[in-house]
Amino acid sequence: MSVSEVFTAAYGTEPAGLWAAPGRVNLIGEHTDYNDGFVLPFALPQRTVAAAGPSPDGQWHICSTLIPEPVTFGNTVPGDVTGWGAYVAGIVWALQDAGFEVPPARIAIDSDVPLGSGLSSSAALESAVLTALIDLGGLDLPLEKRPALAQRAENVYVGAPTGIMDQSASIRCQDGKALFLDCRSFEVEQIPFDLAAEGLAILVINSNAPHQHVDGEYGARRKSCEAAAATLGVRALRDIAVADLPEALGKLGDDVLVRRTRHIVTENQRVLDTVTLLGEGRVREIGPLLTASHASMRDDFEITVAQVDVAVETALEAGAYGARMTGGGFGGCVLALIDADRAEATAAAVATAYEKHGFTAPTSWVAVAGPGAARL
Ligand code: ADP
Ligand code: MG
Repeated sequence: MSVSEVFTAAYGTEPAGLWAAPGRVNLIGEHTDYNDGFVLPFALPQRTVAAAGPSPDGQWHICSTLIPEPVTFGNTVPGDVTGWGAYVAGIVWALQDAGFEVPPARIAIDSDVPLGSGLSSSAALESAVLTALIDLGGLDLPLEKRPALAQRAENVYVGAPTGIMDQSASIRCQDGKALFLDCRSFEVEQIPFDLAAEGLAILVINSNAPHQHVDGEYGARRKSCEAAAATLGVRALRDIAVADLPEALGKLGDDVLVRRTRHIVTENQRVLDTVTLLGEGRVREIGPLLTASHASMRDDFEITVAQVDVAVETALEAGAYGARMTGGGFGGCVLALIDADRAEATAAAVATAYEKHGFTAPTSWVAVAGPGAARL
């Protein structure tokens, strides 16, 4: 059934329109967003589609092809709606809280973004609904202000302390481009990212590893970064340059804070170096930066698990120019920069390695940079 048909089956009428927002992979720059640093995501072809139309009873009605329970809510404050509906109710609340008159709506959701795999299905859901409500209500909210509003929905209403990257990627990415985002100023630069022209591809490997302790560990990483910044007397770790790193680490003392800080500071530099190389058309040369990013996440930030480490090692052995975990960690996906004609062989090598280790089979596909949120 198409999402329009789902809408019609649920509400007995046609939707006014369809709005789509993509999941994303982050090429490089992990856990840098909440340190006011740099990230470089691109939008996936996988996306969440919202079929939406006006709601005569003045409430919001939502259903999803992926979740059995439909949800209905009226004017809402954080705590009212929990579960998957919180991502949608959070958008309504954040818009109202920003002073907008939000049109009551009936919404049906469909998605091919895998849930909870680090590809940001949550931001795709928020961004699709936000774009639909803005269009339905004729709300005047410029593109560059939308990510922060969606982030507020997730932080305050859902209660997940995520950074600004995911919503920025889903809303601001463009076809064929990677989004270079400064998470302090929210300034973006669209970086040409056409790998096919170079005979290259990004293979995304979903480890399908069960996420464990994600929220607690994520919160702990944030606290460590804040503590390090406070000790160093800076607003955020973004303010430490690589050249000043040895001196800064000397002031920290605590071994955990030293390693967390080293990851963030070197990772920010790797994003800047990646942007420079891509700008000069030296795409293969970003490979070592990707691999160094992975080592830093594994050894210093300690957010990888065996499944993602094995995927990275195997992809490199199979000839990848570079590979790294992408996303918040503790499971999720790996991306590998490969020759385009090596996609099947690389995916097969990882699948074989997983079998040997007794891991759940991975899922792999070639990701091409797609467009951000829009009406279809
Ligand atoms: P990620 O963003 O990495 O996929 P999250 O835990 O942040 O993982 O968000 C996943 C949650 O978002 C799901 O558990 C569900 O509550 C909600 N969600 C995302 N996409 C959909 C969808 N298409 N339908 C219903 N709920 C969804
Ligand atoms: Mg998410």
